[in-house]
Amino acid sequence: MEKKKPIKGKVILSGEIVCKTGLHIGASDTGLSIGGMDNPVIRDPLTKTPYIPGSSLKGKLRSLFERAKDMEFNKYGGNNIYRHECSNSECPVCRLFGASSGSGKNIPSRLQVRDAFLSEESLSKLSELDEGLPYTEWKAENSLDRITCAANPRPIERVPAGATFEFELVYTIEKDEDLKEDLNNLQAMLRLLEDDALGGGGSRGNGRVEIKIKDVLVRKIGHYIEGEDEIKVDLDGGDLGASVEKEYKG
Ligand SMILES: [Zn+2]
Repeated sequence: MEKKKPIKGKVILSGEIVCKTGLHIGASDTGLSIGGMDNPVIRDPLTKTPYIPGSSLKGKLRSLFERAKDMEFNKYGGNNIYRHECSNSECPVCRLFGASSGSGKNIPSRLQVRDAFLSEESLSKLSELDEGLPYTEWKAENSLDRITCAANPRPIERVPAGATFEFELVYTIEKDEDLKEDLNNLQAMLRLLEDDALGGGGSRGNGRVEIKIKDVLVRKIGHYIEGEDEIKVDLDGGDLGASVEKEYKG
């Protein structure tokens, strides 16, 4: 295997994730929810605002892509979670999302997903909510007893519909010939996510999101080293891969 890992540039996608329904991205409840609710959302420890961890968004995109490509779930990650990971550097999933197969054959992820925080506007709107918790709402999710029909309400905390998070995805250009395909795969998974769900309780209506790509920047390596200008890509609702490739090669 060739032991090289060039960075030829970065493609930076930024925009908004708009919650069309309430969003629940759970915190691990150890220690956090003593005396509190069963299903808290994850919050920034300093500001106490809910956010979308980059790892959650990346994990969701990856799992959609694994399934879209019908990959074999060959790796056990604990907690009954199986996923795909291999050491083939041509694998479209692993070259984009990375793989740590051990034995010196790790494939670093070409995609970095930043944590997504609430927009200023959402912060100010949500701070007016009066639900007892900052920036969120409670929803009682019922599970119906099949015999008695008695409801068993289980509260879940959600970021309310309408809230907007600001996301940033950074793609590292390593191989020119993969650029278009990788970015088109990424764009396809962002679209698929809109018809799927982010966070918990998707089958019960939570986590429907709209993803708006607002800015696409290409920074070739010369931008960092020689001060070359960055290139703003005009996406115009179209094909991300082709639009970026045209600017990158042009
Ligand atoms: Zn793979």
